[in-house]
Parts: sequence; structure tokens; C-alpha cells
Amino acid sequence: MSGLRFRVVSEAFTKKALQVTPPKENISEYYGRYVFGRKEMAKFLSDDCMQALIKAIDLGETLDRQIADEVADGMKKWAMTHGATHYTHWFQPLTEGTAEKHDSFIEYATVPGGEVIEKFSGKLLVQQEPDASSFPNGGIRNTFEARGYTAWDPSSPAFIVDDTLCIPTVFVAYTGEALDYKTPLLKAINAVDKAATAVCHYFDPSVKKVVSYLGWEQEYFLVDEGLYAARPDLLLTGRTLIGHESAKNQQLEDHYFGAIPARVQAFMKELEFEAYNYGIPCKTRHNEVAPNQFELAPIFGEMNLANDQNLLVMSIMNRIARKHGFRVLLHEKPFAGINGSGKHNNWSLGTDTGVGLFTPGKTPEENLQFITFLVNALMAVYKNNALLKASIMTAQNAHRLGAGEAPPTIISAFLGSHLTEVLNKLEESSSEEAIVMDNKKKMKLGVAHIPEVLLDNTDRNRTSPFAFTGNRFEFRAVGSSANCASALIVLNTIMADQLNEFKTLVDEKISSGLPTNKAIFEVLKAYIKESKPIRFDGNGYSNEWREEAAKRGLDCETSVPLIYEAYTRKESIEMFCRTGVFSEKELEARNEVKWETYTKKLQIEARVLGDLCLNHIIPVATQYQSLLLDNVYKTKQIYSAEKAEELSAHNMELIEKLSRHISIIKSQVDAMVAARKKANKIESEREKAIAYSETVLPYFSTIREGADELELIVDDELWPLPKYREMLFIR
Ligand code: ADP
Ligand code: MG
Repeated sequence: MSGLRFRVVSEAFTKKALQVTPPKENISEYYGRYVFGRKEMAKFLSDDCMQALIKAIDLGETLDRQIADEVADGMKKWAMTHGATHYTHWFQPLTEGTAEKHDSFIEYATVPGGEVIEKFSGKLLVQQEPDASSFPNGGIRNTFEARGYTAWDPSSPAFIVDDTLCIPTVFVAYTGEALDYKTPLLKAINAVDKAATAVCHYFDPSVKKVVSYLGWEQEYFLVDEGLYAARPDLLLTGRTLIGHESAKNQQLEDHYFGAIPARVQAFMKELEFEAYNYGIPCKTRHNEVAPNQFELAPIFGEMNLANDQNLLVMSIMNRIARKHGFRVLLHEKPFAGINGSGKHNNWSLGTDTGVGLFTPGKTPEENLQFITFLVNALMAVYKNNALLKASIMTAQNAHRLGAGEAPPTIISAFLGSHLTEVLNKLEESSSEEAIVMDNKKKMKLGVAHIPEVLLDNTDRNRTSPFAFTGNRFEFRAVGSSANCASALIVLNTIMADQLNEFKTLVDEKISSGLPTNKAIFEVLKAYIKESKPIRFDGNGYSNEWREEAAKRGLDCETSVPLIYEAYTRKESIEMFCRTGVFSEKELEARNEVKWETYTKKLQIEARVLGDLCLNHIIPVATQYQSLLLDNVYKTKQIYSAEKAEELSAHNMELIEKLSRHISIIKSQVDAMVAARKKANKIESEREKAIAYSETVLPYFSTIREGADELELIVDDELWPLPKYREMLFIR
């Protein structure tokens, strides 16, 4: 019976689900069908209105009320052609995922005795007031002045889910503080645009705008819905709190790039079809390292939009998975002993003239610009490595980082041998050597010649948290369930601030008489030297690196609650204020939210773990022990004392083993509950989070060890929870 204790095939899953009929049209024909993009706008808006809207989108210009009314009306008409009856402001509170509150389009017509009509005004499009008190705000508002509002973000197009028109919005307190991820992300995108454009002017005065790009790679696990439902820990915490590892897991590495199981393939096809409908350019799909682990990645795009699309994809995934009898696990570490899930953020900047600022150029001028942005990025990451780590740290991601499978809890940057060589040469050379003028007075980058092969030839170091990959940096420490904005806000802000500093220094040198290129080169040379400690091309998983990183002065803090403090260090506060991304009050409030969330996650896990042990594991182990005792007792009735002892030796051993584990688990759960109760009394969110991390969390592993031992001993028939081997191999 082993392995069949649970119906692997859930009710929702039938052969029918496998038969996803591909749409007859080409992708390009239905692509973006559910999005109010430019094609649809042209059909539903007047030319004037459309132009004003495009200006608002591209240049951030404000829309007047009359235009907003017309946009709202056009949007409503378009939405109604898709059967929409409701609308919602779609926003990104400081919890995971997104939030929405639906309202119907219906209103009474304003004439006396007016009938019910569908109406959607500019006022409703532009601003709404959800009850903000129930979203985390870190004390910015207390409940009796619970007023916050959502405001339309025209740069991300509205879309339709089911019968509802969803309007991407920011979420802000009436006192002006951001209560979401989108607000600071837009500010950080703007800050880097301003700073980078100014620096670009050294090289090309015609640049008007620098765009931030994001290409996310979403990893996830699938489990059968029936098995998921039988695991209270998966259901309530998103991860397995107990479970012995399967005899086979990822050691054969046969899953990565292996054939995708038919059932999963059907799910992926439908997911991609749906993503295309939303104008999300999904490009690659493949198996990941762990069994049942997969990845989905689109073509990169403008950062704010790409991030909205990632959030949308996460919710689409959940919906489609259920149709196929699956549950999607977006948790960073759903199963112990096998790889967890991340979400690589491919980050780059590009000008409105079409130049990638992290792309090695074809001309020396372009190469000096490339080196400028590359070195400034290194400096930014060097100075703010603790902050970058804080931006991706959560209770969930902590299980993944530093576990020899994902980036360690130390941020370093990987460049590959070619670029390292280029920087080393630049560091050693004089500006005369580095920047040579040819006969026609054109600049040449002497030593810093960047080989053309670089693009295809970037070494693939998989252990680096922040790796240069040819034309972008890949930030790999981001967690699979995270809102990428958290990391991107920090990345863009530190880059903006760094570029501003760079510009100040270069301008000083220019005004003291140095030619521009020499001034740039001198500042870069100093930066290359100073930021050297952040560069590391070796094995990031090794213990030697930890020691080495500490010597280099990189942040090696591993306690989650303490890592968050990087946000409220003096230098960080000043930087966020200078760039206009966060105020001090916002930073403090957001850390309160982080500590509170951390505590709550651990609190829920501790409760579920305790319940599992007391209600599932111990009763079953006791039941099995009774069966054994019964057998021993009966053996004694039938056989001589001597023979009975011989026959029962194995069972006696088991009985005692069971007792030992049961009593250890029980006493550890009791101790954990006591630690939790003590921690709960602490007022300060910071201190409480520290108490949870230091006094509650350590019990998780000792309790788990006992439970996993029992799983190996207790009769398979009796074991109440689906086992790893049952959950991890989809048939
Ligand atoms: P890998 O798994 O090897 O890292 P993938 O092809 O899965 O590679 O993902 C690469 C991601 O990087 C894709 O989302 C791709 O669109 C994105 N990307 C490529 N070039 C850039 C760029 N210049 N800026 C941002 N993202 C980029
Ligand atoms: Mg990648």
C-alpha cells in the first residue's frame, strides 16, 4: 500500500485537464487582450485624450479632470466589452501580494427618478479610499484616523480579471507617507532616471531619459492539491514544518532541464496562454533543480510594469494551478533538504536613445560610459551591501540564503575574468595611458579595451548574489514570494545616490581645469580601488568566504531582525531622504512592519508545529506503540518467557525508541510554547522579533528531528501526513 495512502489524483484533476486546446490564433493576435494598452486605447479614446494620456505615461505629466473623465469612460466601455461589471483599485500593501476592493459600475442616473446605469468617472479612476486600517502601516496611522487613499498609476495599464476592471494604484496615508511598495518604487525609478541622465550627458547630451529595466525569473513548486490539503503546515504556513527527506530527491540532478511531466506541461501551457492575454511576455519555462520545481521568465521590461506583471502572474498561477489539481508553492523553502525557490531580478538601465548602460559598447566613448555605470554600480553595492541584504530578507528567505544552495547572507558582486582584468588594468594605469587621443583628436580607451566576446562569454558563477551577466546585473538573493520592488527600490536608490556623488566629484575636477574624460577617469580609478572588497568571483557557498568577507568589512550579520536595522542607519536615512525615496518616518514605520511580520510568521509556524506534534504525530506514534505492546504481551502468553523475550527483542527496542522520541517532542513543544508566551509579552516589535528568532525558532529543528525519526519508525499505514516522496514526484 505504501505510496498509495493518499489519492495522488485530486478530484479537480481529470484527463480533461491535460487536454488544453491551444487557441487557433497566433500569440500576437490575442496578446494583451485583457489589458487596456495602446491598441485598445486608440479604439476607445479620442485622439486628444489619448495624446494627453500618453504624455502622462511617458513623461509623468499630470492629467486634468476632464481628460481623466474621458479615460475613465473609455476604460469602462472597453471593460464592458469583456463582460466587466465591477472595478477595483489594485495596490501593493506591505503584506505579500496585492489587495483590491471591488465596486460595481452601477449608479442611479442623476435625473429625477433616474434608472440604474453603468458609470465610471475620472474621480473614481483617479482616487479611492479603501479602509486602510487593516493593512500593515507600522504605526503611521492608528485606527481612528484610518485614512489612506489609493491613486491611479497611469504608467501601468488597467486590466481585467474575471468580471472586474483592475486599476494599478499607489497606496498612501493622508499624511503623505507611502503604505505600499509601488510609491517608493516609482520614486526610486525617478531618482535613478534623473541621476543617470545627468551622467549620460557627459557622453551624449541628447539623452532625455534613463529607463530602469527588470527581468524576473519566477521559481515555484507544484504539489498535488489533494496532498496539499492533507498537510496543515503547507496549508497554513506555505512550507512543510516536518517531513523526513525522500530516499531520492535531487541527488541525481535528473530533474533540471529534464522532460516536463504531461500534467505540469498542461498547466504551463494554460498559464502561458493566460499570461499572454495579459500582455506578459513569457519566454522560458523549464524544470528547476529540485523535483517538482519549475521556473517561468518573461522578456525583461520597464521596471514598474514588469513588477506589476510579476505580481499578476503570481495570482494567475494560483488560479490556473487549481484548475489542474495543483497548488503552487511560492514559499522560499517549502521542503527541507532540497533547493528552495528564488526570483532572480535581472536589473539594467537604458537610455531613451536605445543604449544599454550596462552593455559594453562598440566605440571607446560608449565603453567609457559602460565602465562608468559598471563601476558606479559596484560602488553603490559596496557601500550599501548591508542595505541590499535587508531588502531581500524575510523569515522565509532566511531558510534559503546561506544554506549552500542560494546566495549566502553576504552580498558580493561577480564580474567574471574579462571584466576583472579590465578593471585591474584601469586601476594600474594613468589617465594618459587609459585614454589615448588618436590623430583626429578622437578618444581611445587604451588599456580598457573591452573584448567583444564579453557578452557571450560571461562566466556562469551561480553562487554570487549579484552577478554581472553580460548586459545587466542579476540580483539572485530575492525570494520567490517577494514583491521585487523591495529589492529594486534599494537598488535604484543606491545607484541614484551614487551617480549623484560621482557627478559632483567629476564636476569639481572639471571646474578645476581637467578635461572631462580625464576627470571621469580619475574618479573611476579611485572608485575601482575603493570598491574592491565587494568583488568576489570564488565560491560564495564556502566557509572560507565567510571568513574572508568579514575581513573585508562586508556585512555578515545573519539575524533577520538585526539585518533590518541597515535601513535606519544614519547613512541610509540620509541617502533615502536625499534621493526623495523615503522619509525617516517611513523608514522607521516600515521596519516596524518588517519586525511584526517576522514575528507573526514564526508565531503561526510555532503554533502549527505544536498542533501537528500534539494532534497528529504523538497520537499516531502512541497508537503504533500500543500495537507493539499488544504484540509483546500476546507473545508472552503463548511462548515461554525465554522464547518470548527473544521473539520480542526488536519490538521492545522500538517501543522504547518511540517512548524516547515522544517524550522529547512533548517536552520540546512545551518549552517552545513557554518561550512563545514569554516573547509575546514584549512590547517593542524589534525586541519581540529578536526574542522569536533567538528563543522560539531554535526549537523548530529539535522538534522536527524527533518527528522525522518517528516517521521512519511508525507503520506507513498509520502515518497521517503525506510524505516527501509522495508530494515531490508528480505523476
Ligand atoms: P538564466 O536562467 O540563465 O539567468 P533566463 O533566460 O532564465 O536566464 O533569464 C534571463 C532574464 O534576464 C530574462 O528575464 C531576460 O529577459 C532578462 N534580461 C536579459 N537582458 C536584460 C537586460 N538588459 N536587462 C534586464 N533584464 C534582462
Ligand atoms: Mg537567472
